[in-house]
Amino acid sequence: MNIKTISVIFGISLVYILFNFLTVREPQLPPGAKIASDFGSRTDALGRKRRRKHQGIDIIGPVGTEIIAIADGNVLAAEDESCWGLTIMIDHSVTGKKPLMALYGHLDEMLVKENESVKRGQLIGRLGDKATKRKCVRGIRHLHLQLGRKIQAKEKKSHYWGYSYFLEDKKGLNPHHFWAHGPGIVTCFVPGINYPKDKITWPLHCKL
Ligand SMILES: [Zn+2]
Repeated sequence: MNIKTISVIFGISLVYILFNFLTVREPQLPPGAKIASDFGSRTDALGRKRRRKHQGIDIIGPVGTEIIAIADGNVLAAEDESCWGLTIMIDHSVTGKKPLMALYGHLDEMLVKENESVKRGQLIGRLGDKATKRKCVRGIRHLHLQLGRKIQAKEKKSHYWGYSYFLEDKKGLNPHHFWAHGPGIVTCFVPGINYPKDKITWPLHCKL
């Protein structure tokens, strides 16, 4: 391979990386899907200012909307955290590569238990609208989906609240980098399709 070929390959890779980076900023949503506050946003689901960048995505929908697993995995926690309310943590790192944990926060109902294994698309909980005084819910009931790598140590949990109660990560990972159809392309779950195991699908049923 000569220098010219190498620089062409390098150039194409750079354009590809830049393209992905830009598309991630404008995620393509499925019809009817509503993100009230996206990853990195400085405003919350009600349009109020946040003190720090949002570490997950806030998804809104009708009361009782089914929340489904974004990939195969094992339920590590299904508990009522003091600030977040009902929260499910699933270990989605089923490929044996990098660990990938997901928090499904502020739920109205949890339909899985700790240590249960789940399949992508499986019903795990429901969205609600019951008034809640939980500080982390910020006025409007929604699903807060957050990704991370490292589970919080059991003995440290009592010192923390919110996502730090579950994860040791200082920041969330951008979910838009993990969609099965590619960065920024929010991917709907369709039964029978084999998605890459380390990639995620939308946590609600899409109106396809
Ligand atoms: Zn949130």
